[in-house]
Amino acid sequence: MKVPFERIIIDKKAQRDELTGRIIERLPGIPFEYENDLPRLIAERPAKDRSLILTHHSGEFVKDFPSTPGTPPCGEKYIITMLNCPFTCSYCYLQSYLEHGRIVVFTNLKKMKSDIRKALDRPDVLRITTGEMGDSLALDHITGVTLDILPLFSGSKTLLEARTKSANTGHIIEGTKNRPGLLDNLLITWTLAPSAAIRKEERMVSSLEERMAAIAEASAAGINTAVRFDPVIPWYYRKEEYERLVEMIADSVGRGSILRFEIGVMRFPPGLWEEAGKVSSALFKGEYFRDREGKMRLYRPERIRIYRDIYQSIRRYFPETRVDLSMEDSEVWEDTGIPT
Ligand code: SF4
Repeated sequence: MKVPFERIIIDKKAQRDELTGRIIERLPGIPFEYENDLPRLIAERPAKDRSLILTHHSGEFVKDFPSTPGTPPCGEKYIITMLNCPFTCSYCYLQSYLEHGRIVVFTNLKKMKSDIRKALDRPDVLRITTGEMGDSLALDHITGVTLDILPLFSGSKTLLEARTKSANTGHIIEGTKNRPGLLDNLLITWTLAPSAAIRKEERMVSSLEERMAAIAEASAAGINTAVRFDPVIPWYYRKEEYERLVEMIADSVGRGSILRFEIGVMRFPPGLWEEAGKVSSALFKGEYFRDREGKMRLYRPERIRIYRDIYQSIRRYFPETRVDLSMEDSEVWEDTGIPT
């Protein structure tokens, strides 16, 4: 994967961190500089550029997902290992969620690990993902954070979930080789979509074929794998194409070897409608309405039709695999016939 950075900006606080040293070593030839006043720098230049910022996260590293009223509990939390993403999907909710577009990696690993240990003390946490504030694996071959934190999960009932649109898994396969105990707690989830949607709406990511090959390779290496169809963008939705996607997954990894599927139809939290509108018009085709939380959502009967179609396709090839809906309330689950 091509290195997307022209320089590294190091907050003075992060200067002596082991992770900072590792990143510099893995980006030879990329100039770096120290910065005393990072908040000022970000405030003055908030837009995404080709620099990578290394600093400390001062709050809690492990967070609960904001819950949509009426949704069944998902048993999931997320870890803030970084902010923003080298990929540029037109629909990315981070555009409206974060105050700036700079790519930041947090290097205070000791505190991150201690927060993860605390979260793992709770028996009801099924998964903790690193993929909420950026693609989990896009920079992972440089940061190595997945392999740093994975051993903490050993012996717990919780999975560390990396979510990705990349094929950047070689370092994980290599790093877990001959350490089979480690793989029990690792899940890599690929977000997939029809090729036309990937080409038009997801930039810098791996192609559908590359992701399929990566799923097959990870699965063959003994890594738990899962698939998200999220967001399903109505403009690109064709029942047959999703059926074909599910068939391709079954052909790549074999029936039964995907741990779970998750489906979510395109929705726009407050602010995203305006931001995404600057980069893509295809996202808005369809009838959208504002829900009680202020999110713009596709007309409910249309969502239910899409969920039912995809669920049937999944059931044809993966009769036992768990299927979840992303951020939909219990009534929508009931209407689709998908068990919670
Ligand atoms: S991969 Fe995820 S985090 Fe990165 S730009 Fe796309 S939607 Fe946003």
